[in-house]
Amino acid sequence: MTAKQSIHIVWFKRDFRWHDHAPIRSALAAGESVFFVALYEPLLWSTAPYDERHERFIWDSVDDLNAVVSKDVVHFLKVEALEFFKHCLSTFDVKAVYSHRETGIDKTFKRDKAISKLLKAHDISWNEWDYGGVKRGLKHRKNWLKDWYDYVDAAPLATNLDAVRDQALSIPFEAWQHSNTYEPHPYFQKGGTSRAERVLFSFLTERIKRYAQSISKPLASRKGCSRISPHLAWGTISIRQIWHMAEVVDLAGSKRNQRAFVDRLRWQAHFIQKFESACSYEFHPINRAYTAIDTSKVWDEHKFAAWKNGTTGVPLVDACMRCVAATGYLNFRMRAMVVSFYSQYLWLPWEAGARYLASTFTDFEPGIHYTQFQMQSGYTGVNTIRIYNPIKQSLDQDPKGEFIKQWLPELKDLPLPHLHEPWTIPPMMWEMEAWDIGTYPMSPIVDLAQVRKYASDQLYGTKKTKASKREAQLILEKLVNPKNRRS
Ligand SMILES: Cc1cc2nc3c(=O)[nH]c(=O)nc-3n(C[C@H](O)[C@H](O)[C@H](O)COP(=O)(O)OP(=O)(O)OC[C@H]3O[C@@H](n4cnc5c(N)ncnc54)[C@H](O)[C@@H]3O)c2cc1C
Repeated sequence: MTAKQSIHIVWFKRDFRWHDHAPIRSALAAGESVFFVALYEPLLWSTAPYDERHERFIWDSVDDLNAVVSKDVVHFLKVEALEFFKHCLSTFDVKAVYSHRETGIDKTFKRDKAISKLLKAHDISWNEWDYGGVKRGLKHRKNWLKDWYDYVDAAPLATNLDAVRDQALSIPFEAWQHSNTYEPHPYFQKGGTSRAERVLFSFLTERIKRYAQSISKPLASRKGCSRISPHLAWGTISIRQIWHMAEVVDLAGSKRNQRAFVDRLRWQAHFIQKFESACSYEFHPINRAYTAIDTSKVWDEHKFAAWKNGTTGVPLVDACMRCVAATGYLNFRMRAMVVSFYSQYLWLPWEAGARYLASTFTDFEPGIHYTQFQMQSGYTGVNTIRIYNPIKQSLDQDPKGEFIKQWLPELKDLPLPHLHEPWTIPPMMWEMEAWDIGTYPMSPIVDLAQVRKYASDQLYGTKKTKASKREAQLILEKLVNPKNRRS
C-alpha cells in the first residue's frame, strides 16, 4: 500500500492576497507541500446575500493570485466545504489546515463549526488567525482601540513568493474544478490585489483631493472616494497595508482628507468588531426593544418590488436602487438614504431589505452591512435617529439631476427643479409639454409626509421606553469603545 501524500491546506476565505497573510506564512514555514484552495460553496453562494457579482470578484482575485506567482497554484473548487475536507481526509495525510477567522454570516459560522468538529475528530489542527485587528471572544471594548492601533501600526507581513512556487501542490480535482463562464461586466469592480494596489495608488496620489467634496454625492463619489471597499471586504489587500500606504504617501498634500480617510479605515474594523461580538445583528434588532416594531405584519410585496426595481416615484431613491443593482456600488450617504426610505417610509421588515441590498453590494461585508442597516433604520436606541428627506438629499447631492437622468432616462426631459419631485409639475405643464415618462409613477407610492410622521412617532416612542434604554446601556457597555461613545 502506498503512503498517502502529506499536505498542508491553506483555505482562502475573505483574504485573497499573498502578503500580510499569517496563515500562508505559517503553512510555508512547515517546509512541506501546501495546497492553496478557494471554495465556491453552492448552498451558500446560490442565494442572497451572496450574488454572482461576489463570485466574479473572487474569480478575478484567484486569477490575480496565480498571475502574481506566474503559476496556477490556487485552486478554485465548486464543492461544499465539508465535502471537500472529508475528501481530503480520506485521500491525503492532512497535516494541518490554515486560515483566517471569518466574521461571516450565520451560515458560514455553522459551516466552520462543522469543519472544526470534523478536523478535531481526526486529530488535525486548524490554525486560525484573527483578521484585520478584529478579535474573537472579546468581552468588552476597553483596550480594543489601543490594540487595534498596535495591530495596524506593526509592519505588514511579507510572504516569500519563491516558497509559494516551490511548495505549492497541484492536485487535479477535475470533478470540482470551477469554470468561469462569465463575460466581462461593464460596471462591476474587478477583483485582484494588483487592481487593489492601482485603485489605492490613484486615490492616494490624486483622487483624494476631491474626497471631502465628493463623499456624499452619488455621482462624484464614484471617482472622489477611494473605491477600495470590495478589495477590503474580500481581502485582496489588508487594512494594515492600506493604513501604511495612507501614512507614507504624501496624499496629494491634503491632511484633512487623509484624516477623513484613515478615520473610516478605523470605522471599518469598529463595525466588524461589533458584529463579531454580537452576530445576532443578522437576525434581530440589536436593541431588543425594537422587536416590538413588528413590520412583518405589514409586509407589502408591491412596495418591496418598487424599492428594488427603482419605481417608488421618488427619483433619487429610484436612481440609487437601479444604479446599485447595475453597478454594485453606492456611496455611504445614498446607502443610508435608501435604507431610511425602505425601513421608515415604506415601513418594511429590515431583514429582507438588508439581505437584498447585501446581494447588490460588491463590497458586501457582513460586519459593516448588518450593523449599518440597523443603525440607519433607527433600530439601535444608541444612535441619533435619522429620517432622511429624500427630496432635500436630491436637491443637495444631485442638484443638476445628472445622476437621476443617468439611471431614470424616462425622466430626462423633466425640467429642474421638478425633476427632483415630478408630482409638483402642474397639470397644465404636463399637457403643454407632452412629456413621456413611460410607466414611471406620477407620484410617490406613499404619502411622504404622512409616513415620515408615523415612522418618527414609532421610532422615538420606542427609544423613550425603559426597555430600550436598558438595552442601550448594555449595547454601550459591550460594543462601544468607552473613548468613542458616540459611535
Ligand atoms: C446601510 C449601509 C450598508 C453598508 N454596507 C457596507 C458593506 O457591506 N461593505 C462595506 O465595505 N461598507 C458598507 N457600508 C459603508 C460605506 O457605505 C462603504 O464602506 C463605502 O461607501 C465604500 O466606498 P469607498 O471604499 O469608496 O469608501 P471610502 O469613503 O473611500 O472609505 C474607505 C473605507 O473605509 C470603510 N468605511 C467607509 N465608510 C464606512 C462606514 N460608514 N462604516 C464602516 N466602514 C466604512 C470602508 O472599508 C471603505 O472602503 C455600508 C453603509 C451603509 C449605510
